[in-house]
Amino acid sequence: MIITDTHTHLYSEAFDDDQEAMIRRAEAAGVSRFFIPAIDSSYTQRMYALEGKYPEQVFLMMGLHPTSVKEDYEEELAHVEAEFAKRRFYAVGEIGIDLYWDKSTLAIQQDAFTRQIRLAKKYTLPIVIHCRDAFDEIFDVLEDERGDDLFGIFHCFTGTKDQAERAISFNMRLGIGGVVTFKNGKVDRFLHEVGLKHIVLETDSPYLAPTPFRGKRNESSYIIKVLEKLSSVYGVSEEEIAHVTTENSKEVFGI
Ligand SMILES: [Zn+2]
Repeated sequence: MIITDTHTHLYSEAFDDDQEAMIRRAEAAGVSRFFIPAIDSSYTQRMYALEGKYPEQVFLMMGLHPTSVKEDYEEELAHVEAEFAKRRFYAVGEIGIDLYWDKSTLAIQQDAFTRQIRLAKKYTLPIVIHCRDAFDEIFDVLEDERGDDLFGIFHCFTGTKDQAERAISFNMRLGIGGVVTFKNGKVDRFLHEVGLKHIVLETDSPYLAPTPFRGKRNESSYIIKVLEKLSSVYGVSEEEIAHVTTENSKEVFGI
């Protein structure tokens, strides 16, 4: 069984004491492909160090996270563009709009999101979207950028069935993680109406640990709990969920 964690911050300080043991636990659980979203330039060297240690399993993205879009965002975007000019990445991410932490930066978040979508189009790459309290604002940008060259993953999807269908209409897969195991998570109630071909698995570790680890540090091996839940939601085996979602991830990332 090959499980793909399409969104995991393995380079996080949260794993400084046990990164190697944590990655071994994930591999023992069947997780052998890790897609690594960027945050901002302060993490770039840590991401390269991680890739250096696990070149066969780790696939890097590059991008500016919406909560890091601040006064210096022009410099940060210049950093992102410079890295893309140097080497290969597998997605532009994570990018998007976050109005939970700071509404005052909406205008520059929209600008950074749009410009990074165009960067993805330039390199024929998927985007990985971070959306928090900002569905309408995200959809407005996606509507302007709609086209065959727009595709990717709506990471940590927590919306309604209508919002799921709308995201899919922009060639987005839904990133499903720990939230699907929460009692009040809601997505589990309609996911069976959304074909498995539109779903990819993720943990977003070290954040958003699934039940029964909710509130604790998350890690990629816990993706098994998401797999178990989706197996019951779709009424198919865990092997089938792992197989289809890994194939979906290959279509998105091209590897
Ligand atoms: Zn993330």
